[in-house]
Parts: sequence; structure tokens; C-alpha cells
Amino acid sequence: MSLTDRVPVPTSINPGVKNAKQQTMLDILGKPRSSFTQDCQEVTNPDLKALIVTDDVGPFRVTGLKPAVVDLREIFANVKSANPALYAALSTAGMLCARLVRNTTRGSISNHAWGTAIDIKINKELDRYGDGKVQAGLVLLAPFFNQHGWFWGAGFGTEDGMHFEAGDGRVREWHVGGLHHVTGGVTPDEVLRLGDRGPEVCQLQERLNAAGANLVVDGDFGQNTHDAVLAFQQQKGLKADGVVGSKTSAALGL
Ligand SMILES: [Zn+2]
Repeated sequence: MSLTDRVPVPTSINPGVKNAKQQTMLDILGKPRSSFTQDCQEVTNPDLKALIVTDDVGPFRVTGLKPAVVDLREIFANVKSANPALYAALSTAGMLCARLVRNTTRGSISNHAWGTAIDIKINKELDRYGDGKVQAGLVLLAPFFNQHGWFWGAGFGTEDGMHFEAGDGRVREWHVGGLHHVTGGVTPDEVLRLGDRGPEVCQLQERLNAAGANLVVDGDFGQNTHDAVLAFQQQKGLKADGVVGSKTSAALGL
């Protein structure tokens, strides 16, 4: 099998690793700039800008958030010693890019905007987005990222196989280790709200549907999911704020 052969997304990926929520990124690093489009723009937040570095991580150079770049160097060193052929096939389609998540209408900020996500090419080929298949080389690569607390984008509601990002727990570890934060507090990790996405949002949508909603289970916490949470909270006599905290989670059986 060649590293660029396309194979189905394996069933048990990202063990113990969650994608980084938008709120976690905002709480710890602030907003990269005041407005966003689907295209890359400059980071204008001076505190964040001060944490952006450009450096060699082994197979290529990247521009990203300093602790993320440090992680990448270690991840690729591990790949190099364990699987030199895979290492030799790696290149990148980019790391820092202040834009919205593409292919959704929801307006969430991409984690590329904080320089904590990277898109990987195998033998200079990009994996095709959202077709449920991924390059065999990405399947081999994912565990090296997972070991460092990085999430593989093949686990998103719509498969994004080329994409790897520092997971929610990893970003929180950096914060505990002294990474700059802007709000004086970080939202507890069980909270889900408008703008979040990923496997946890799929579970939430399934529970809301079981409680009578009629949502597409796409892992995107958009306006429809927000409205369904509000309706559920009203129905159960909970504080209707559209935010899934511990009480709403418990009522949903999450
Ligand atoms: Zn990406």
C-alpha cells in the first residue's frame, strides 16, 4: 500500500483527545483579530502576535504559536525515528491563518487563526476534504500527534483528514504552564456553546434529537443546535441561555 492510497477513516481515532473548543482558545489566547473571512488574514492581536514564531520543525518550516511549534518538532522527531519513509513524505499546506472554519456557514474561528493547527500533505498531495476517506500515511501519522495531545481532524463531523490541531487538554496544559490568558478565567472543559464543534457536539445533537429535536448530526454547534438547547432548557425549567453546562448536560444524560 502506498502512503497516498485512500482508506476509510479508522473507527477508534483520537483516543482520549478532544479538539480545542473555540471558547478555550478565546479564554486563553483572546481573539486573533477583530473580524474574519474565509481567507487568511493577518493576526492583529498584539499579545497573540508576540507568541507567534517561525521555525524549522524537521521536515519543513512553519509559522505558528510557540508551544505548538515546540510540540511539532518533538512529534516529527518521533516520526523520523519510528518511520523514516513516512517522515520523508511529509510536507505542509500551512499552519497560521486567521480565518473562519471553511465549508460551514456558522462563522466559527478556525484554530489555524491561533497558529495551533497544521495541515499535512503526503507526497505533496492534499487529502480530499469530507469524503470519509483519508490517505494511509495520515492514519500512520495520527498516533504521533495523539501522543502529544493533538487532535486529528478526521474525527470532525465532516472528515478533515489533513488537519491536526492542539487538543483542548493540550491548550489547557500550556495555560497551566504559564501561557498568556486574557479573561482571568477559563471555561470548564465540559461546557459546550455556539461556535464549538467536534465529536462532543455530535453526542450533544444525538441527545437533543432523542429529546425531540430534529437536528442534522454534523458536529457543528450552530444556530439550530443553539435553538434546540434553548428549547430543551425551557422545557426542563433550566436557565435558558443556550450554553450546555453541567446542569443541562446532566438533564440530557451526557
Ligand atoms: Zn486545517
